[in-house]
Amino acid sequence: MPDQPLRVLIIGAHPDDADVKAGGTAAKWCSLGHVVRLVSLTNGRAGHQTMHGPRLAQRRRTEAQAAAATIGATYEILDHPDGELDDRLEYREEVIRLIRSFRPDLILTHRSTDYHPDHRFAGLLVQDASYLLTVPAICPDVPHLPACPVILSFSDAFTKPCPFEPHVVVDIDGEFDRLVAMLYCHGSQFFEWLPYNAGYLDQVPAGADARRAWLVDRLRQRIEPMADRYRDLIVQTYGPEHGGRVRLIEAFEVSEYGSPLDLPTRTRLFPFLPNSSQAPAPFTRKDWVDLPSGRE
Ligand SMILES: [Zn+2]
Repeated sequence: MPDQPLRVLIIGAHPDDADVKAGGTAAKWCSLGHVVRLVSLTNGRAGHQTMHGPRLAQRRRTEAQAAAATIGATYEILDHPDGELDDRLEYREEVIRLIRSFRPDLILTHRSTDYHPDHRFAGLLVQDASYLLTVPAICPDVPHLPACPVILSFSDAFTKPCPFEPHVVVDIDGEFDRLVAMLYCHGSQFFEWLPYNAGYLDQVPAGADARRAWLVDRLRQRIEPMADRYRDLIVQTYGPEHGGRVRLIEAFEVSEYGSPLDLPTRTRLFPFLPNSSQAPAPFTRKDWVDLPSGRE
């Protein structure tokens, strides 16, 4: 166990986003004894074709907590209506209090450009909270943080107004089984709602073993292309031999609103990455050169 476990806060909009986007990496942190909390800013009550409202919210809460338990993490689900997240002050203050109370070293969340308004607003709420975390007069009932944590964004495929730019890639080949175990817990989503919504509900097999195998195939098809898309960065990170054969990754972009992810910080926050001088460059942004004095 590490002397000082890292505290990692993974904030999604819905009760499966955090695991879908960062579950493999979360499993790595948990294995090393670090503290991971997954968060959903909404209760997920709209994510089903036939079951809605409090019954679905309760079902999804149970699924999410089972998923977190498979890796030794916890899942916190806020009771805000699915599909109705926005940037109101009340939500921003709740996010400020949530982050301050947990005191994370690292936050992962959505980018604020995404097809789903809840994802966009989750990213925006964290972005809007980032500086205010350090301002004592804001939400004075919860002690402010000395500095904003590092903030990373989940990967996505959207390109406008700007495409996702990976700065950290994590080989999750060894965690794939645990990622599958996590996502299998979200039965309402992976075997019911998502197939219904995308028009392939008739392909979902019956029976636990067949479903698990089907989920493995679907996840591989979805995740594998990312490794080839970001192969250069994987090779830079892991070296040509290991980097050339990695098949499954999770990727993250540094948010310029959090603390910079310089190489010593990356080494501390991602202890499972090779501590290599070949590490890729863009861990800091030029916008940060003058900080903190440059911030106004
Ligand atoms: Zn979502």
